[in-house]
Amino acid sequence: MSHKTHCKLKFSSKLITSVCALTLLGACASFDADLEFDTKKSAARQLHDQFIVMDTHLDTPANLAQPGFDITERHDPILDYSQVDLPRMIEGGLDGGFWVIYTQQRSLTDIGYQTARDHAIQRAIAIQRMLAAHPEHFEMATKASDAQRIKDSGKRIVYQSIENSYPLGEDISLLRTFYNFGVRMIGPVHFANNQFADSGTDISGPKWGGLSPLGEELVKEANRLGMIIDASHAHDLAFDDMVELSATPIILSHSGTKALYDHPRNLDDERLKTLAATGGVIQMNALGAYLKELRQFPARQKAYAELRKESEAIGSNPTPEQFQMLLDKRRQIDAEFPADMADFEDFIEQLLYALKLIGPDHVGIGADWDGGGGVVGMRDIAAFPLITERLLKEGYSKEDLAKIWGGNVIRLMQAAEDHAASLKN
Ligand SMILES: [Zn+2]
Repeated sequence: MSHKTHCKLKFSSKLITSVCALTLLGACASFDADLEFDTKKSAARQLHDQFIVMDTHLDTPANLAQPGFDITERHDPILDYSQVDLPRMIEGGLDGGFWVIYTQQRSLTDIGYQTARDHAIQRAIAIQRMLAAHPEHFEMATKASDAQRIKDSGKRIVYQSIENSYPLGEDISLLRTFYNFGVRMIGPVHFANNQFADSGTDISGPKWGGLSPLGEELVKEANRLGMIIDASHAHDLAFDDMVELSATPIILSHSGTKALYDHPRNLDDERLKTLAATGGVIQMNALGAYLKELRQFPARQKAYAELRKESEAIGSNPTPEQFQMLLDKRRQIDAEFPADMADFEDFIEQLLYALKLIGPDHVGIGADWDGGGGVVGMRDIAAFPLITERLLKEGYSKEDLAKIWGGNVIRLMQAAEDHAASLKN
Protein backbone atom coordinates (compact mmCIF):
# COMPACT_ATOMS: atom_id res chain seq x y z
CA MET A 1 0.00 0.00 0.00
CA SER A 2 1.43 3.35 -0.93
CA HIS A 3 1.97 6.03 1.61
CA LYS A 4 -0.50 8.13 -0.26
CA THR A 5 -3.18 5.46 0.15
CA HIS A 6 -2.61 5.31 3.88
CA CYS A 7 -3.06 9.01 4.21
CA LYS A 8 -6.23 8.96 2.17
CA LEU A 9 -7.85 6.56 4.62
CA LYS A 10 -9.23 9.42 6.66
CA PHE A 11 -6.87 8.98 9.62
CA SER A 12 -7.93 5.49 10.63
CA SER A 13 -6.37 5.50 14.07
CA LYS A 14 -4.68 2.11 13.78
CA LEU A 15 -3.04 3.13 10.52
CA ILE A 16 -1.99 6.44 11.92
CA THR A 17 -0.29 4.83 14.87
CA SER A 18 1.18 1.79 13.15
CA VAL A 19 2.09 3.04 9.70
CA CYS A 20 2.27 6.79 9.79
CA ALA A 21 3.78 7.07 13.24
CA LEU A 22 7.16 8.20 11.98
CA THR A 23 5.67 10.68 9.58
CA LEU A 24 3.04 12.24 11.78
CA LEU A 25 4.83 15.52 11.82
CA GLY A 26 4.02 16.42 8.29
CA ALA A 27 5.26 13.79 5.87
CA CYS A 28 1.79 12.35 5.31
CA ALA A 29 0.34 15.64 4.29
CA SER A 30 3.32 16.75 2.25
CA PHE A 31 3.00 13.72 -0.07
CA ASP A 32 -0.35 14.74 -1.46
CA ALA A 33 -1.46 18.08 -2.70
CA ASP A 34 -4.88 16.72 -3.65
CA LEU A 35 -5.97 15.52 -0.24
CA GLU A 36 -9.17 16.84 1.29
CA PHE A 37 -7.36 18.20 4.30
CA ASP A 38 -5.09 21.16 4.73
CA THR A 39 -1.70 20.11 3.41
CA LYS A 40 0.07 22.75 5.45
CA LYS A 41 -0.85 20.97 8.68
CA SER A 42 0.54 17.67 9.90
CA ALA A 43 -1.75 14.66 10.09
CA ALA A 44 -1.51 14.71 13.88
CA ARG A 45 -2.51 18.36 13.96
CA GLN A 46 -5.47 17.71 11.71
CA LEU A 47 -6.60 14.93 14.00
CA HIS A 48 -6.13 17.24 16.97
CA ASP A 49 -8.43 19.77 15.35
CA GLN A 50 -11.17 17.14 14.97
CA PHE A 51 -11.39 16.41 18.69
CA ILE A 52 -13.29 18.48 21.19
CA VAL A 53 -10.15 19.70 22.95
CA MET A 54 -10.85 20.86 26.49
CA ASP A 55 -8.78 21.58 29.55
CA THR A 56 -10.69 21.26 32.83
CA HIS A 57 -8.75 23.83 34.80
CA LEU A 58 -8.39 27.24 33.16
CA ASP A 59 -7.63 29.80 35.85
CA THR A 60 -7.85 32.49 33.19
CA PRO A 61 -10.78 34.31 34.85
CA ALA A 62 -8.15 35.55 37.33
CA ASN A 63 -6.62 37.46 34.41
CA LEU A 64 -9.88 38.81 33.01
CA ALA A 65 -10.17 41.51 35.66
CA GLN A 66 -6.53 42.56 35.42
CA PRO A 67 -5.91 46.07 34.10
CA GLY A 68 -5.47 46.06 30.35
CA PHE A 69 -5.97 42.33 29.84
CA ASP A 70 -7.69 41.54 26.54
CA ILE A 71 -8.58 37.88 25.98
CA THR A 72 -8.68 38.44 22.21
CA GLU A 73 -5.06 39.60 22.11
CA ARG A 74 -2.01 37.42 22.19
CA HIS A 75 -0.06 37.50 25.43
CA ASP A 76 3.20 35.86 26.38
CA PRO A 77 3.96 33.35 29.16
CA ILE A 78 7.37 34.89 29.76
CA LEU A 79 6.44 38.58 29.54
CA ASP A 80 3.15 38.72 31.43
CA TYR A 81 2.75 35.09 32.62
CA SER A 82 -0.51 34.69 30.72
CA GLN A 83 -1.09 31.24 29.25
CA VAL A 84 -4.56 31.39 27.72
CA ASP A 85 -6.09 33.79 25.21
CA LEU A 86 -8.08 33.51 22.01
CA PRO A 87 -5.15 33.63 19.54
CA ARG A 88 -3.35 30.87 21.42
CA MET A 89 -6.54 28.82 21.83
CA ILE A 90 -6.75 28.83 18.05
CA GLU A 91 -3.05 28.08 17.65
CA GLY A 92 -3.14 25.24 20.19
CA GLY A 93 -6.46 23.88 18.99
CA LEU A 94 -8.02 24.39 22.44
CA ASP A 95 -11.78 24.53 22.04
CA GLY A 96 -12.31 25.55 25.64
CA GLY A 97 -12.98 23.84 28.92
CA PHE A 98 -13.79 24.72 32.49
CA TRP A 99 -13.10 28.36 33.39
CA VAL A 100 -12.46 28.54 37.08
CA ILE A 101 -14.02 30.70 39.76
CA TYR A 102 -11.23 30.46 42.30
CA THR A 103 -11.30 32.11 45.70
CA GLN A 104 -8.43 32.31 48.14
CA GLN A 105 -9.29 31.10 51.60
CA ARG A 106 -9.12 33.23 54.69
CA SER A 107 -10.85 32.90 58.06
CA LEU A 108 -13.80 30.53 58.45
CA THR A 109 -15.93 33.32 59.87
CA ASP A 110 -18.99 35.23 58.69
CA ILE A 111 -16.89 38.17 57.55
CA GLY A 112 -14.43 35.84 55.81
CA TYR A 113 -17.29 34.06 54.02
CA GLN A 114 -18.94 37.34 52.98
CA THR A 115 -15.74 38.77 51.54
CA ALA A 116 -15.08 35.51 49.71
CA ARG A 117 -18.66 35.32 48.40
CA ASP A 118 -18.33 38.83 46.96
CA HIS A 119 -15.03 37.88 45.35
CA ALA A 120 -16.44 34.71 43.80
CA ILE A 121 -19.44 36.60 42.44
CA GLN A 122 -17.09 39.21 40.96
CA ARG A 123 -15.15 36.46 39.23
CA ALA A 124 -18.34 34.89 37.91
CA ILE A 125 -19.29 38.33 36.57
CA ALA A 126 -15.88 38.68 34.91
CA ILE A 127 -16.63 35.48 32.97
CA GLN A 128 -20.10 36.75 32.04
CA ARG A 129 -18.52 40.02 30.87
CA MET A 130 -16.10 38.13 28.63
CA LEU A 131 -19.01 36.19 27.14
CA ALA A 132 -21.02 39.36 26.63
CA ALA A 133 -18.10 41.29 25.11
CA HIS A 134 -17.14 38.60 22.60
CA PRO A 135 -20.25 36.65 21.62
CA GLU A 136 -18.65 35.86 18.27
CA HIS A 137 -15.75 34.04 19.97
CA PHE A 138 -17.02 32.56 23.24
CA GLU A 139 -20.19 30.83 24.32
CA MET A 140 -21.29 29.61 27.72
CA ALA A 141 -21.79 25.86 27.95
CA THR A 142 -24.01 24.34 30.63
CA LYS A 143 -24.97 20.99 29.13
CA ALA A 144 -22.96 18.02 27.91
CA SER A 145 -24.30 18.49 24.39
CA ASP A 146 -23.22 22.16 24.25
CA ALA A 147 -19.54 21.31 23.68
CA GLN A 148 -19.92 19.82 20.19
CA ARG A 149 -22.48 22.41 19.13
CA ILE A 150 -20.27 25.32 20.20
CA LYS A 151 -17.18 23.79 18.59
CA ASP A 152 -19.12 23.30 15.34
CA SER A 153 -20.12 26.97 15.40
CA GLY A 154 -16.45 27.96 15.52
CA LYS A 155 -16.67 29.47 19.00
CA ARG A 156 -14.82 28.57 22.19
CA ILE A 157 -16.50 26.52 24.89
CA VAL A 158 -16.93 28.14 28.30
CA TYR A 159 -17.97 25.71 31.01
CA GLN A 160 -17.49 27.06 34.52
CA SER A 161 -16.24 25.52 37.74
CA ILE A 162 -15.65 26.55 41.33
CA GLU A 163 -12.28 25.87 42.90
CA ASN A 164 -12.72 26.13 46.65
CA SER A 165 -16.32 26.23 47.87
CA TYR A 166 -15.27 28.41 50.81
CA PRO A 167 -17.23 31.44 49.43
CA LEU A 168 -20.48 29.53 49.88
CA GLY A 169 -20.08 30.01 53.62
CA GLU A 170 -22.42 27.75 55.49
CA ASP A 171 -25.32 28.43 53.17
CA ILE A 172 -25.56 25.51 50.72
CA SER A 173 -28.46 27.21 48.93
CA LEU A 174 -25.94 29.67 47.50
CA LEU A 175 -24.76 26.85 45.24
CA ARG A 176 -27.88 27.37 43.16
CA THR A 177 -26.88 30.99 42.54
CA PHE A 178 -23.63 29.77 41.01
CA TYR A 179 -25.49 27.05 39.12
CA ASN A 180 -27.58 29.84 37.65
CA PHE A 181 -24.37 31.61 36.61
CA GLY A 182 -23.65 28.41 34.66
CA VAL A 183 -21.28 26.65 37.06
CA ARG A 184 -21.31 22.88 36.49
CA MET A 185 -18.31 21.60 38.45
CA ILE A 186 -17.49 22.17 42.08
CA GLY A 187 -14.39 21.52 44.13
CA PRO A 188 -15.14 21.71 47.87
CA VAL A 189 -11.68 22.59 49.12
CA HIS A 190 -8.32 24.16 48.23
CA PHE A 191 -4.99 24.53 50.07
CA ALA A 192 -6.45 24.45 53.59
CA ASN A 193 -9.20 22.62 55.45
CA ASN A 194 -12.50 24.49 55.30
CA GLN A 195 -16.11 24.15 56.36
CA PHE A 196 -16.72 21.40 53.78
CA ALA A 197 -13.67 19.17 53.64
CA ASP A 198 -10.10 18.42 54.55
CA SER A 199 -7.43 19.61 52.17
CA GLY A 200 -4.52 17.46 51.03
CA THR A 201 -2.11 20.26 51.85
CA ASP A 202 -3.26 21.65 55.22
CA ILE A 203 -0.18 21.48 57.43
CA SER A 204 -2.31 20.82 60.49
CA GLY A 205 -3.60 17.56 59.04
CA PRO A 206 -7.22 16.51 58.57
CA LYS A 207 -9.87 18.18 60.71
CA TRP A 208 -12.95 16.25 59.64
CA GLY A 209 -11.51 12.93 58.54
CA GLY A 210 -12.71 13.65 54.99
CA LEU A 211 -15.88 15.59 54.27
CA SER A 212 -17.56 17.54 57.07
CA PRO A 213 -21.32 17.04 57.60
CA LEU A 214 -21.80 20.29 55.63
CA GLY A 215 -19.50 18.93 52.93
CA GLU A 216 -21.72 15.88 52.59
CA GLU A 217 -24.69 18.20 52.11
CA LEU A 218 -22.71 20.11 49.48
CA VAL A 219 -22.02 16.93 47.49
CA LYS A 220 -25.69 15.93 47.66
CA GLU A 221 -26.82 19.41 46.57
CA ALA A 222 -24.32 19.44 43.68
CA ASN A 223 -25.61 16.03 42.59
CA ARG A 224 -29.16 17.28 42.85
CA LEU A 225 -28.40 20.32 40.70
CA GLY A 226 -26.39 18.35 38.13
CA MET A 227 -22.82 19.43 38.85
CA ILE A 228 -19.64 17.34 38.66
CA ILE A 229 -17.81 16.91 41.99
CA ASP A 230 -14.12 17.83 41.76
CA ALA A 231 -11.80 16.19 44.29
CA SER A 232 -8.60 17.99 43.25
CA HIS A 233 -6.92 19.54 46.31
CA ALA A 234 -8.99 17.36 48.65
CA HIS A 235 -7.36 15.18 51.28
CA ASP A 236 -7.28 11.48 50.38
CA LEU A 237 -9.95 10.85 53.02
CA ALA A 238 -12.16 13.54 51.49
CA PHE A 239 -11.62 11.93 48.08
CA ASP A 240 -12.77 8.63 49.61
CA ASP A 241 -15.91 10.29 50.97
CA MET A 242 -16.70 12.05 47.69
CA VAL A 243 -16.26 8.97 45.54
CA GLU A 244 -18.44 7.03 47.98
CA LEU A 245 -21.15 9.63 48.39
CA SER A 246 -21.49 11.15 44.94
CA ALA A 247 -24.34 9.76 42.88
CA THR A 248 -22.37 10.40 39.69
CA PRO A 249 -18.70 9.84 38.74
CA ILE A 250 -16.32 12.40 40.19
CA ILE A 251 -13.40 14.21 38.59
CA LEU A 252 -9.96 15.35 39.65
CA SER A 253 -9.86 18.45 37.46
CA HIS A 254 -6.10 18.98 37.82
CA SER A 255 -4.11 16.33 39.70
CA GLY A 256 -1.33 13.79 39.29
CA THR A 257 -0.12 10.34 40.29
CA LYS A 258 1.47 9.66 43.65
CA ALA A 259 3.36 6.65 42.29
CA LEU A 260 5.58 8.99 40.25
CA TYR A 261 5.78 11.78 42.78
CA ASP A 262 4.63 11.38 46.37
CA HIS A 263 2.83 14.66 46.93
CA PRO A 264 -0.51 15.28 48.69
CA ARG A 265 -1.85 16.84 45.48
CA ASN A 266 -1.42 13.48 43.76
CA LEU A 267 -3.42 10.28 44.02
CA ASP A 268 -2.14 6.78 44.81
CA ASP A 269 -2.76 3.83 42.50
CA GLU A 270 -5.47 2.25 44.65
CA ARG A 271 -7.50 5.43 44.70
CA LEU A 272 -6.98 5.95 40.98
CA LYS A 273 -8.35 2.46 40.42
CA THR A 274 -11.33 3.24 42.64
CA LEU A 275 -11.87 6.45 40.68
CA ALA A 276 -11.88 4.50 37.41
CA ALA A 277 -14.06 1.70 38.80
CA THR A 278 -16.72 4.29 39.65
CA GLY A 279 -16.51 5.87 36.20
CA GLY A 280 -14.48 8.91 37.28
CA VAL A 281 -11.69 10.78 35.54
CA ILE A 282 -8.32 12.29 36.47
CA GLN A 283 -7.23 15.29 34.43
CA MET A 284 -3.47 15.54 34.41
CA ASN A 285 -1.85 18.57 35.96
CA ALA A 286 1.17 20.37 34.48
CA LEU A 287 2.17 22.24 37.63
CA GLY A 288 5.86 21.52 38.03
CA ALA A 289 5.97 21.33 41.82
CA TYR A 290 3.45 18.47 41.71
CA LEU A 291 5.21 16.60 38.92
CA LYS A 292 8.54 16.10 40.61
CA GLU A 293 10.77 17.36 43.40
CA LEU A 294 12.01 20.78 42.32
CA ARG A 295 14.99 22.53 43.81
CA GLN A 296 14.09 25.47 46.05
CA PHE A 297 16.23 28.58 46.16
CA PRO A 298 15.99 30.54 49.46
CA ALA A 299 16.82 33.87 47.79
CA ARG A 300 14.03 33.36 45.29
CA GLN A 301 11.56 32.33 48.00
CA LYS A 302 12.46 35.38 50.05
CA ALA A 303 12.04 37.73 47.10
CA TYR A 304 8.67 36.18 46.23
CA ALA A 305 7.52 36.39 49.86
CA GLU A 306 8.28 40.11 49.83
CA LEU A 307 6.50 40.59 46.54
CA ARG A 308 3.45 38.74 47.89
CA LYS A 309 3.38 41.04 50.90
CA GLU A 310 3.54 44.07 48.63
CA SER A 311 0.80 42.68 46.44
CA GLU A 312 -1.45 41.94 49.42
CA ALA A 313 -0.94 45.45 50.74
CA ILE A 314 -2.17 46.80 47.40
CA GLY A 315 -5.19 44.50 47.46
CA SER A 316 -7.19 42.79 44.75
CA ASN A 317 -7.91 45.91 42.68
CA PRO A 318 -4.53 47.39 41.73
CA THR A 319 -4.33 50.47 39.54
CA PRO A 320 -2.75 49.87 36.11
CA GLU A 321 0.47 51.45 37.45
CA GLN A 322 0.53 49.23 40.54
CA PHE A 323 -0.22 46.19 38.43
CA GLN A 324 2.64 47.00 36.05
CA MET A 325 5.00 47.63 38.96
CA LEU A 326 4.21 44.21 40.48
CA LEU A 327 4.62 42.54 37.11
CA ASP A 328 8.00 44.21 36.54
CA LYS A 329 9.17 43.10 39.97
CA ARG A 330 8.07 39.52 39.31
CA ARG A 331 9.95 39.45 36.03
CA GLN A 332 12.99 40.86 37.77
CA ILE A 333 12.90 38.12 40.42
CA ASP A 334 12.53 35.41 37.78
CA ALA A 335 15.46 36.85 35.83
CA GLU A 336 17.65 37.13 38.88
CA PHE A 337 16.69 33.85 40.57
CA PRO A 338 15.32 31.51 37.91
CA ALA A 339 13.06 28.72 39.20
CA ASP A 340 13.79 25.05 38.82
CA MET A 341 11.16 23.78 36.39
CA ALA A 342 9.66 20.48 35.33
CA ASP A 343 9.60 19.79 31.60
CA PHE A 344 7.30 18.30 28.99
CA GLU A 345 8.70 14.81 29.57
CA ASP A 346 7.86 15.00 33.28
CA PHE A 347 4.29 15.85 32.35
CA ILE A 348 4.10 13.14 29.70
CA GLU A 349 5.48 10.56 32.14
CA GLN A 350 2.59 11.33 34.52
CA LEU A 351 0.06 11.22 31.71
CA LEU A 352 1.33 7.91 30.34
CA TYR A 353 1.47 6.37 33.80
CA ALA A 354 -2.16 7.24 34.49
CA LEU A 355 -3.20 6.03 31.04
CA LYS A 356 -1.48 2.68 31.55
CA LEU A 357 -2.92 2.26 35.03
CA ILE A 358 -6.58 3.12 34.44
CA GLY A 359 -6.97 3.56 30.67
CA PRO A 360 -8.07 6.32 28.31
CA ASP A 361 -11.67 6.27 29.56
CA HIS A 362 -10.48 7.76 32.84
CA VAL A 363 -7.73 10.24 31.99
CA GLY A 364 -7.79 13.74 30.54
CA ILE A 365 -5.99 17.07 30.67
CA GLY A 366 -6.31 19.81 33.29
CA ALA A 367 -2.97 21.56 33.21
CA ASP A 368 -3.76 24.44 35.61
CA TRP A 369 -3.19 27.21 33.08
CA ASP A 370 -2.91 30.68 34.55
CA GLY A 371 -2.87 29.00 37.94
CA GLY A 372 0.68 27.74 38.19
CA GLY A 373 0.74 25.15 35.40
CA GLY A 374 3.17 25.06 32.50
CA VAL A 375 6.46 23.26 31.99
CA VAL A 376 9.55 23.75 29.85
CA GLY A 377 8.44 22.68 26.39
CA MET A 378 4.75 23.39 27.13
CA ARG A 379 4.57 26.86 28.61
CA ASP A 380 1.10 27.66 27.36
CA ILE A 381 -1.87 26.21 25.52
CA ALA A 382 -0.29 26.84 22.12
CA ALA A 383 1.77 23.69 22.75
CA PHE A 384 -1.26 21.39 23.17
CA PRO A 385 -0.87 19.66 19.78
CA LEU A 386 2.40 18.21 21.13
CA ILE A 387 0.34 16.04 23.48
CA THR A 388 -1.69 14.65 20.62
CA GLU A 389 1.45 13.97 18.57
CA ARG A 390 3.06 12.22 21.49
CA LEU A 391 0.08 10.05 22.41
CA LEU A 392 -0.30 8.94 18.79
CA LYS A 393 3.36 7.97 18.78
CA GLU A 394 2.78 6.02 21.99
CA GLY A 395 0.11 4.01 20.18
CA TYR A 396 -3.07 5.65 21.44
CA SER A 397 -5.89 5.70 18.90
CA LYS A 398 -8.04 8.46 17.54
CA GLU A 399 -10.88 7.13 19.71
CA ASP A 400 -8.67 7.19 22.81
CA LEU A 401 -7.59 10.76 22.10
CA ALA A 402 -11.16 11.92 21.56
CA LYS A 403 -12.00 10.67 25.06
CA ILE A 404 -8.85 12.08 26.66
CA TRP A 405 -9.32 15.54 25.16
CA GLY A 406 -13.02 15.96 25.84
CA GLY A 407 -15.12 12.81 25.62
CA ASN A 408 -14.55 11.73 29.20
CA VAL A 409 -15.50 15.01 30.80
CA ILE A 410 -18.54 15.30 28.53
CA ARG A 411 -19.54 11.82 29.72
CA LEU A 412 -19.31 13.04 33.33
CA MET A 413 -21.34 16.14 32.48
CA GLN A 414 -24.00 13.94 30.90
CA ALA A 415 -24.11 11.67 33.96
CA ALA A 416 -24.49 14.66 36.30
CA GLU A 417 -27.18 16.13 34.07
CA ASP A 418 -29.09 12.84 33.72
CA HIS A 419 -29.01 12.28 37.46
CA ALA A 420 -30.42 15.75 38.17
CA ALA A 421 -33.15 15.20 35.54
CA SER A 422 -34.03 11.80 37.02
CA LEU A 423 -34.73 13.42 40.39
CA LYS A 424 -37.18 15.84 38.80
CA ASN A 425 -39.18 13.06 37.16
ZN1 LIG B 1 -5.64 24.22 41.95
